[in-house]
Amino acid sequence: MKSWNLGSKKPKDSKEAGILSRSITPVPPSRAATPKPPGGENISRSGMLTIRIFSGRGLALPPGVQVPDIIQRALDSNPSTRRSTSNRDSIQRKRSWWLPYVVLEFDKNEVLVDGMGGDLSKPEWNYRADFDVSRMSNISVSAYLRTAQCVEGQDDMGNDILMARVDLTPMLDSHHASDQWYTATAGQGAFHLKIDFKPARHESLSIEQFDLLKVIGKGSFGKVMQVRKKDTQRIYALKTIRKANIVSRPGEITHILAERTVLALVNNPFIVPLKFSFQTPDKLYLVMSFVNGGELFYHLQREGKFDESRSRFYAAELLCALEHLHSFNVVYRDLKPENILLDYTGHIALCDFGLCKLNMSETEKTNTFCGTPEYIAPELLESQGYTKTVDWWTLGVLLYEMMASCPTLTGLPPFYDENVNVMYQRILSDPLLFPADMSHDAKSVMAGLLQRDPSRRLGAGGADEIKRHPFFSKHVDWNRLLAKKIQPPFKPHVESVLDVANFDAEFTGEKPQDSHVDDTPLSETVQDQFRGFTYNPGNEHLSESISFPSVMS
Ligand code: ATP
Ligand code: MG
Repeated sequence: MKSWNLGSKKPKDSKEAGILSRSITPVPPSRAATPKPPGGENISRSGMLTIRIFSGRGLALPPGVQVPDIIQRALDSNPSTRRSTSNRDSIQRKRSWWLPYVVLEFDKNEVLVDGMGGDLSKPEWNYRADFDVSRMSNISVSAYLRTAQCVEGQDDMGNDILMARVDLTPMLDSHHASDQWYTATAGQGAFHLKIDFKPARHESLSIEQFDLLKVIGKGSFGKVMQVRKKDTQRIYALKTIRKANIVSRPGEITHILAERTVLALVNNPFIVPLKFSFQTPDKLYLVMSFVNGGELFYHLQREGKFDESRSRFYAAELLCALEHLHSFNVVYRDLKPENILLDYTGHIALCDFGLCKLNMSETEKTNTFCGTPEYIAPELLESQGYTKTVDWWTLGVLLYEMMASCPTLTGLPPFYDENVNVMYQRILSDPLLFPADMSHDAKSVMAGLLQRDPSRRLGAGGADEIKRHPFFSKHVDWNRLLAKKIQPPFKPHVESVLDVANFDAEFTGEKPQDSHVDDTPLSETVQDQFRGFTYNPGNEHLSESISFPSVMS
């Protein structure tokens, strides 16, 4: 058997290390080709949604699951939590980590609420959270029981137990309020919730409306910070991009506008939603939901590799995300563990749409050489032109990276080499090797996705072809998966929505600031090209909020 020649572990995000230059040929989309957003006109909802959670009743652990010892001991030694907290106002908010906590979620914005009183089956939370609404989305309320005490620095894998969950579609047409018990749609029990929506219009955003909390990542053109919107107190990820940096590189304006357009268009449970975008004469700002379970890259580095069912779960959610993008004729082109985030609960959230290509119909081919070296499909290297099927190649690379292992190294892409040119050669011609312990279905799905001829690649006939492969079809109920009803195999350890422990300390240790730009002002003509960027649905009619930026038409 050919020996494994994988070199040292790949560095993070070699695209950002400047190994590959990115260039995109702008393709002028016609307005007629503008895809319709899912959810139709609902996309333009705007205002504030207030969720009050009072208490739960009838909550129970899943059948056969015992109360973890550590919780039982804490309950025994804290009888006071059983006391009723009916006199709410006089009771200081005190965290009772041993009681079920609740995750309130709206549009990927998550708020963790600790129990204040009651007991395991009847916890009391008495909490109010405000959410910004910029489009239609569901509310989900999930109660979890911890399996370990949350102590800072403790290596806890955070696999908390889901006790009850309810998914709701709020009324966002006009002012609306409701106060009732909602029965769990997963697990057991019910939640007492009060939900109130107040529409708002004509809000124009600026950086002053946010507190800058932490730096969480650096992009090629700016940085990503964790921020708090001052009025609703909601936490977001803010990506800042200096206009001067992008205008100097050919094709980059198109990239950035594509990113904003894609983010505003899509509404998929596994894609980070864009809440707002705004600009100043010097900078562009993208406000996205903050997803803080960490990059898949971070977890893969920590654990080396994932088992087959965990890899399948991530690949299946990613498959749905890519299928959704393809349905808008968008090719993602940059799938890799650095761009895949895990949310609070362990579901996938795809971010970074800077390399997306719009208006790619089934047969449309493009020639731009871009992506990240380890994930480049052979047809790109051979400059044959490529179609949506490049994304299925990268899905194959990712599956391999998650699952394959060799005696000394784990978690590397299949044709990895430290030397990029050697790696390209290997992508074009090396046989695909699998570790001996890999299942037949796993090998077969990877061999299908990593088929060099794009017309014979698994997925060439559409995403369904991949879904029907036994690796997925024997295990995945796609409807339940899309409804996020399948419990993730791993829940990241996240203390609260403010927690940035899953991000690189190299970034989080930096002082968060919106740096001043001294560049000479950009010309009116250049500024004009950014005209389509601002996204604040309260101010826009639907047709404007989804139209393509002027630079591209
Ligand atoms: P580009 O290709 O546009 O230059 P980039 O790779 O430089 O993109 P991103 O991938 O968008 O920039 O962001 C950099 C990092 O910031 C991500 O890898 C991720 O760790 C973090 N990040 C981005 N968006 C979010 C988000 N919504 N929530 C949490 N973290 C995020
Ligand atoms: Mg990235």
